[in-house]
Amino acid sequence: MRKEKKYKKQEMTSQETIDHELDPNAIIQTIDLAKIYHITEGVEIRALNGINIDIKKGEFVSVMGPSGSGKTTLLNMIGALDNPTTGAVFISGTNIAHMNDTERTNLRLNEIGFIFQFYNLVPVLSTYENIELPMIFAGKSKEVRNRNVKKFLDIVSLSEKADHLPSELSGGEQQRVAIARALCNEPSILIADEPTGELDTVKGMEIIRLLRELNLELNQTILMVTHDPAVGTLAERMLKMRDGKIIETVITKN
Ligand code: ADP
Ligand code: MG
Repeated sequence: MRKEKKYKKQEMTSQETIDHELDPNAIIQTIDLAKIYHITEGVEIRALNGINIDIKKGEFVSVMGPSGSGKTTLLNMIGALDNPTTGAVFISGTNIAHMNDTERTNLRLNEIGFIFQFYNLVPVLSTYENIELPMIFAGKSKEVRNRNVKKFLDIVSLSEKADHLPSELSGGEQQRVAIARALCNEPSILIADEPTGELDTVKGMEIIRLLRELNLELNQTILMVTHDPAVGTLAERMLKMRDGKIIETVITKN
């Protein structure tokens, strides 16, 4: 994919564009990202209202904000699950909007791993099979699949539960399966939307500690949404959102 150096940024007040230099070190960069949902005739919701973020490889960044502030919308734009109304998302210097279908599919399968609040595991598949599934989609050989499932089962401490169905696992264990599944294609970016939202404090903290270990040991870039301040401050940098905007950036001591 073509790495771009500049982005033609539209002036708010006119049709004119100005060249905006891109950060060559950013793994994720958004420029003036906006998303407007048209609900009915004349009714619209500005879910994102000019988001500019810049994340480097190996950073662990949390996004915090009240319900409805646009956190999930932001992750969906960054993960190429939805298109912005205006503005742009660059992943490793490539504008997502300039990718063709194959490149987008490749991005979702190989470059970005998703972790959701409700785990989203396939109920009829075992732990092993759930982790293996994205590698089947990505066309990995049986040998590679087997090696990676074992590796990530070990990392999330679930080797003993490889044959269990999701219904036979606790919430925390199911979320660890989801983390292993998100990691199995060795994505450069891990995106987590309220990964501790369904867990009690102790289990939630275990998940965050695991994410922090992956960040430190594998230099995994992590972007995590949470509405829990205790969770948010465990990242290196915390972006606070309100009404579709980043209202504050807090550098933590982690
Ligand atoms: P958060 O994740 O911070 O709770 P969201 O990103 O889900 O917030 O939502 C931001 C705003 O956009 C909310 O007002 C929400 O109701 C609205 N919204 C989100 N998705 C849609 C959609 N598909 N259609 C219409 N409105 C939406
Ligand atoms: Mg949300």
